[in-house]
Amino acid sequence: MKSVQDAANDSALDVLRSVWGYQTFRGRQHAIVNHVAAGLDALVLMPTGGGKSLCYQVPALLRPGCAIVVSPLIALMQDQVEALHQLGIEAAYLNSSLPAGEAYAVEQRFVSGDLKLLYVAPERLLTPRFLDLVARAPVSLFAIDEAHCVSQWGHDFRPEYRQLTMLHKRWPSIPRIALTATADPATQEEIIERLQLDDAEQFSSSFDRPNIRYTIVEKNDARRQLLDFLDGHAGESGIVYAMSRKKVEDTAAFLRSKGYNALAYHAGMDTETRALHQRRFLREDGIIMAATIAFGMGIDKPDVRFVAHVDLPKSVEGYYQETGRAGRDGEPAEAWMAYGLGDVVNLRKMIESSEADDSRKWMERRKLDSLLGYCETLGCRRQRLLASFGEVMANPCGNCDNCLNPPEAWDATEPARMALSCVYRCGQRFGASHLIDVLRGERTERILQLGHDTVSTFAIGRDIDSNTWRSIFRQLVSHGYLETDTHGGLRLAEASRTLLKGEQTLQLRREQARVRRQRRAALS
Ligand code: ADP
Ligand code: ZN
Repeated sequence: MKSVQDAANDSALDVLRSVWGYQTFRGRQHAIVNHVAAGLDALVLMPTGGGKSLCYQVPALLRPGCAIVVSPLIALMQDQVEALHQLGIEAAYLNSSLPAGEAYAVEQRFVSGDLKLLYVAPERLLTPRFLDLVARAPVSLFAIDEAHCVSQWGHDFRPEYRQLTMLHKRWPSIPRIALTATADPATQEEIIERLQLDDAEQFSSSFDRPNIRYTIVEKNDARRQLLDFLDGHAGESGIVYAMSRKKVEDTAAFLRSKGYNALAYHAGMDTETRALHQRRFLREDGIIMAATIAFGMGIDKPDVRFVAHVDLPKSVEGYYQETGRAGRDGEPAEAWMAYGLGDVVNLRKMIESSEADDSRKWMERRKLDSLLGYCETLGCRRQRLLASFGEVMANPCGNCDNCLNPPEAWDATEPARMALSCVYRCGQRFGASHLIDVLRGERTERILQLGHDTVSTFAIGRDIDSNTWRSIFRQLVSHGYLETDTHGGLRLAEASRTLLKGEQTLQLRREQARVRRQRRAALS
């Protein structure tokens, strides 16, 4: 005889096969579905593309009543409901985009038990009117999608998410399932605390996205480098992330001038244009979206083949989320970034000159340090990325730039000391370009004016080319030997002492392009 559990297993698979036409569950989906279908709470941590939706959609069909899905994004709700309709499932959504008459009709269907899934925006869910409907309707479960929106540290913070605990207080017997693609352990803890999910079973999947190839290049001619990268992706859909609205516009225009089908997306554009661009990106093939991070959450396009960063993202977590939009279909995809001294200086400057309080600044500095560590690493990027989420990967991945084309470490102790003492001799307030001119012994107008041709470090570094100097300065800033002031000027940090005194040596990363050039030169 079959046990109750077996019967549930069978029916979950039956539903998956008969309704979705998929043969098997992926990863932990099956366990999650059974858990929630049995009426228990769950917290699901699964990377983008892992298949979170099925984790609440299948239980919604297995349990009597209607599942309420809290989702922060209108566009996402519409897409999901449309997809469910195509499968013949009774689903609807309620949000501010719906005319009153239609909203009323949806409410009636909900209360009379005609719906299996109802997607609601959090602010709508929390209204007395809607809560009253919930009290009268048969509800099978609450699904809280994008659960990291409760975290005030993330950029997706939605204050209403904080109040979702009241669902549990009022209807303790209705199971809840919270889902997120957030890999950051601190955010995960905050989710548990804020949504009172201490007793929920936690289902974590690996956050590895093996089909994404990670590459970081040293920025020297950003536009040409971007074009070179795009060369390998003709006709493919992708996203190019930049930090500012202006740079987004410029990048889109530049790419169009080079014959690419590029659109812009940022929060400063009007709602219609934004929606239009998003729709075109989703529906058409081969569109490149130049965007700020305003573009992304809930972009459910399986065949995004690449995500390029032309500016440094704000944190490893942000980088992971943004690059995670590539390759949701499991096919090979690329995460590419160009990164240079200017990026490091800019971000450090932004943190120092921001209005944030000290604890926030401290937090942001730590986040940036961890990101810079990732950028500068000589080892496998994937190992480093997953390690920052507390995940241990036994072997190097073989699918990142550092694995495919190992960078070299070189002893940069002497040049680093020259750079640091040059910073000191020039008064600790100049940017790297000027300092490099001094080291290289350029008699620029500025140098002559300031008398920097007479400091003892003038021209002591003339044997090193200026690109290498930039790489040295960048790494000195990234590794915390140099600090930036609010104007981007460089000054010595505490850590520089031992290096200056000769009590320490320093290994730096030699950029791969230069490594290749040197190897070629050695061969010829
Ligand atoms: P997430 O929300 O975690 O980013 P989705 O729920 O959108 O991921 O699923 C990503 C893709 O994988 C979708 O196209 C979905 O249909 C597909 N998918 C999910 N689970 C399965 C499965 N068990 N078998 C086949 N395809 C699946
Ligand atoms: Zn690797």
